[in-house]
Amino acid sequence: MSSGVSSQPRGEAAGITVKKSEDFSEWYTQVVLKAGLADYAPVKGFIVLRPYGYAIWESIRDILDRRFKETGHQNGFLPVLIPESLLSKEEDHFAGFTPEVFWVTKAGDNNIGEKLALRPTSETLAYSVFAKWITSYRDLPLKINFWNTALRAEIKATKPFIRTSEFLWQEGHTVHATEEEAEQEVMTILGIYKDMIENYLAVPVITGYKSDTEKFVGAKYTTTLEGLMADGKALQMGTSHHLAQNFSKPFEIKYLGKDTKEHFAWQTSWGVSWRLIGALIMVHGDDKGLVLPPQIAPIQVVIVPIHKDKDAKLVKDKAAEIELELKHAGIRAYMDSRDEYTSGWKFNEWEMKGVPLRINLGPRDIEKGQVEFVRRDTKDKKQDDRTKLVDTANSLLVEIQKNLLSKARAFLQENISRPASYDEFKSIIENKGGFVMVGWCGQEECEEKIKQDTGADIRVLPFDQKDRPGKCIYCGQDSKKAAIFARAY
Ligand code: AMP
Repeated sequence: MSSGVSSQPRGEAAGITVKKSEDFSEWYTQVVLKAGLADYAPVKGFIVLRPYGYAIWESIRDILDRRFKETGHQNGFLPVLIPESLLSKEEDHFAGFTPEVFWVTKAGDNNIGEKLALRPTSETLAYSVFAKWITSYRDLPLKINFWNTALRAEIKATKPFIRTSEFLWQEGHTVHATEEEAEQEVMTILGIYKDMIENYLAVPVITGYKSDTEKFVGAKYTTTLEGLMADGKALQMGTSHHLAQNFSKPFEIKYLGKDTKEHFAWQTSWGVSWRLIGALIMVHGDDKGLVLPPQIAPIQVVIVPIHKDKDAKLVKDKAAEIELELKHAGIRAYMDSRDEYTSGWKFNEWEMKGVPLRINLGPRDIEKGQVEFVRRDTKDKKQDDRTKLVDTANSLLVEIQKNLLSKARAFLQENISRPASYDEFKSIIENKGGFVMVGWCGQEECEEKIKQDTGADIRVLPFDQKDRPGKCIYCGQDSKKAAIFARAY
């Protein structure tokens, strides 16, 4: 499938042809393709990331990488193949992942002795080598992150970024001397994720624990960040797992303590993937395409020179000066000087690509010593003095970032329902969607029944339990937890 952009007539860039509110799924696919983020690959469930999509991933990666390093983590590299005997060393983990594993069984024409898994996640591989590296308390903590891809033959319907059979991600793996230290690590990472997702991606999340049924296979517990998409479905934005000693025992990750005794170590693992790009599209996008928060936009300000032939040189020179001045001030600016497209075409294209701020520059603006800014989020226009270029651009970018987060927060708040009865619960899930906050007795049976009845599962048991309803929404017994149910991607 082509992006559809370059094959259009000169006058107008190919826009999105469906409304977000009318056919969300088709709208999403069109934004991914037409904004030039990704394309389908020859194998079902896989995608190709195009440079604009990759640039967004690089923004996300750079922010996280800096934070991981600030908190004492280092990057490493792991091979993609895992022998079956290693993958199966932790039973629950193996049972959970086998339905999704791609196996390599041949090298050329020769059968391989032992089946090799294409890594669905690297706990087992990493821990087989950690066991060699760790012998004493002096080797701890060990905190390593890996930027790579994971491969999972997804059984659920795939969707670009949101659920693909290979995805770019980071997986962090840490080893600690004590349980408390591992718990602390789980929360530190969750905090880094929350800051990145809310303050850079402008997507508000609810944090808390997964239920035992939904936790990572092999973990003692999983903490999660759940976002709400514009169609009322939930999306797990990231997870941070406390593995306790569930892997250190089978993998014999032991250390000699200060007490001269041998102890099994405590571990964590955590990851976010390019699914975050999918969330950005779903939460902020509109009928014209992508809307990117300035903090992660590869291009924050696009400058479009508007001129007839006779003014071309003057206008382009002035636009180039603006581009340079913005760049010197640390703003990611880009001048679109292509002659083969009309300015109307360019406006549409940059809107579709979600560039937060556009500067239209024509001969009249130059004459008057002014600059015209157009916001992508509100479409508002603002003229300001050319001399205030950098200040105005900066303050508008800050406003756009704030506006996107506060709009998304308001949407989230409006879409957390608190039903009083199970009938009301079912009706909300069926008709309105969104997050449904209820009391839960803690029994898997009720969780399972609700899922069978409604397709909604427990997304998160929020850390904030202050509004816990007294009774379980399903069985009416005393509730143990406030739980947020939703249908999810
Ligand atoms: P997990 O190892 O299952 O806890 O996944 C780690 C993170 O990767 C999750 O929080 C998801 O955001 C993301 N993720 C899991 N599966 C997929 C997938 N098939 N496609 C894209 N992202 C995924």
